[in-house]
Amino acid sequence: MDLTWSPAQESFRAEARDWLARHVPREPLPSGDTREGFAAHLEWERALHADRWSVVSWPAAYGGRDSSLWEWLIFEEEYYRAGAPQRVTQNGIFLLAPTIFAFGSRAQQDTLLPRMAAAQDTWCQGWSEPGAGSDLAGIRSRAVRDEHGTGDGPGWRLSGQKTWTTRGAFCSHLFGLFRSDPQAARHEGLTYFLVPLDAEGVTVRGFERLDGDEGFAEVFFDDVFVPDSAVLGGVGRGWTVAMSTTGSERGLSLRSPGRFLAAADRLAGLARDRGTGERDRLAVADAWIRARAYQDFTLAQVTDIVEGRSPGARSSLNKVWWSELDVDLHETAMRLLGPDAALDGPWTRGFQFSLSGPIYAGTNEIQRNIIAERVLGLPRK
Ligand SMILES: Cc1cc2nc3c(=O)[nH]c(=O)nc-3n(C[C@H](O)[C@H](O)[C@H](O)COP(=O)(O)OP(=O)(O)OC[C@H]3O[C@@H](n4cnc5c(N)ncnc54)[C@H](O)[C@@H]3O)c2cc1C
Repeated sequence: MDLTWSPAQESFRAEARDWLARHVPREPLPSGDTREGFAAHLEWERALHADRWSVVSWPAAYGGRDSSLWEWLIFEEEYYRAGAPQRVTQNGIFLLAPTIFAFGSRAQQDTLLPRMAAAQDTWCQGWSEPGAGSDLAGIRSRAVRDEHGTGDGPGWRLSGQKTWTTRGAFCSHLFGLFRSDPQAARHEGLTYFLVPLDAEGVTVRGFERLDGDEGFAEVFFDDVFVPDSAVLGGVGRGWTVAMSTTGSERGLSLRSPGRFLAAADRLAGLARDRGTGERDRLAVADAWIRARAYQDFTLAQVTDIVEGRSPGARSSLNKVWWSELDVDLHETAMRLLGPDAALDGPWTRGFQFSLSGPIYAGTNEIQRNIIAERVLGLPRK
């Protein structure tokens, strides 16, 4: 095993580091989960895109650099190290795009990916419903065939409600699962649709989180027409296509090791500034080691992907690991800050958000079920 980077990879790192040092805003942008902050983050996304840093591992024709996954990992490390803004395009570029590369038609790839890379289209995820969270196959929103359409050809009529749609109030498009065949078995009869949120019949209602940011939306569909080209991966194949998206969400693309390596380094800095007792020293070292363990695990996982082996259910291991590390790391920071933790600041905001990590992207209880049954092969009961 050779864990050293090649000279070309080191020079890629140096180029990324230099660009970030010159471009990362000196003052933090307002939260990307507010309307004003979202707009400021889109400007940042466009600056990234202008110099081809927004999607480094994508083909150059779509705005990328044709870089390998290794270089993407290096870019992520540098990105978080530089304290660059959160990626408000993440649900598009990290979740939907890998699914479009795997399941999209050439026409869908050519049309959708360049606009996504340039932050012209921004995507939110429409899976959860008031009666379906962990039990995603229990969704009720439906798609009914419309052979006549609007005159430009046949398509589908979408109805129902989605909820917990992250940044849904600000995004231009939604990818979501709808039940297209009510007679079929639960995991069949689902279809994955790509929907512009300005389509007639769509109502988006943003609502506040506890911290006051309007981070979520409910999205209502009232007989919304979408053409056949809005189907991703085939009618009735929605479950398979959605599982590809969840693999990206739980696995390396949403939460790469760079995020946790940088946070663990910052935690060590905080501990040096504040001084620590024995318990906190051990906790800081523990967080730092776990971030590095996640990096090593990811290097092995990328080796698998590069050699054509899919992580499959093992992406649930990533999800449990990074979400629990994030909570522990931030709890340590809160203890180190003492009474200052009550003040609004990046650590406190990070702590509040870390608490949602074991819930979003599929709860950790569900991930442990998946690991038990599909990674370890244990019986269901
Ligand atoms: C910050 C954040 C962002 C989100 N963004 C989005 C988004 O953009 N789009 C979207 O569609 N959704 C989003 N969600 C919703 C998220 O996917 C759901 O909250 C999650 O899937 C859990 O569903 P639920 O809230 O309905 O809880 P439930 O499914 O009702 O679960 C409640 C509790 O029961 C446990 N439980 C349920 N079933 C089992 C089981 N079989 N075995 C063991 N335990 C079980 C769960 O682990 C949980 O602890 C977001 C959530 C959060 C917190």
